[in-house]
Amino acid sequence: VNTTIINQLCINTATFGWNRSLIDALNALANSGVKHITPWRHQIQHVGPEIANAMIRDAGLSVSALCRGGMFTYEDKKSYTLAIDDNLRAIDEAAIIGAKSLTLVVGGLPSNSKNLKHAHEQITSGIAKILPHARQAGITLAIEPLHPMFAADRSCINSLTHANDLCDLLGEGVGIALDVYHVWWDPRLSEEIIRAGEKRIVGFHICDWLVPTSDLLLDRGMMGDGVIDIPAIRVMLEKVGYTGLHEVEIFSEKNWWQRSPKEILQHSIERHHTHV
Ligand code: ZN
Repeated sequence: VNTTIINQLCINTATFGWNRSLIDALNALANSGVKHITPWRHQIQHVGPEIANAMIRDAGLSVSALCRGGMFTYEDKKSYTLAIDDNLRAIDEAAIIGAKSLTLVVGGLPSNSKNLKHAHEQITSGIAKILPHARQAGITLAIEPLHPMFAADRSCINSLTHANDLCDLLGEGVGIALDVYHVWWDPRLSEEIIRAGEKRIVGFHICDWLVPTSDLLLDRGMMGDGVIDIPAIRVMLEKVGYTGLHEVEIFSEKNWWQRSPKEILQHSIERHHTHV
């Protein structure tokens, strides 16, 4: 395998399945040539961030991002305050494991609410509240715009345009995680990547959009199995100077998650080489 190419590869540990542990992921990655991971908070909290950090270093890996913070949208003040506190802890955990950014899935409409405007306000003020702590910790807050189909239940930041607007508003320390699954359909993709520029884009998540797709959350495809022109998006990023990682992030309950982590990893490495 071409080492220059594999050096850019990062594995989001959810690619191995929600229920797999950090040690499962590290075992799969051992001697694979992959140097970077993005773990999830439940995996880090399970062993504690200090031990997680030691395990990751012992495995010879570096951490790209921590997945994830966000979920700022609540109707009641108490839940909102708890969400802010939880995000502050996530920043601390990210710093302890040496992550460069905390991926933010910002939250959709609160339950029983139709007030999208209020949700947007909570997201803006939520990020603003945690930003000083993130700046101090050296952790970039990476807003991940999600496909509009998730506006109700996961994120009502649904385009790169909206994410760029928020970055303009909030300033230094806020960036964007660009996931091909969420942005491939956008006619403004190229313009908004140029607008974001190299400095603002802190993550490039790769997978594919299957046709037909059987589940909007848990039926992501392996790169090359769907309709996304991933190399075209990679070129758009490189044209603005992006030299960062390519993070494989595949939620696939019925297909890939049925396979062993080693097998999933082998396919990820090969497809990254041939289809990214
Ligand atoms: Zn993603």
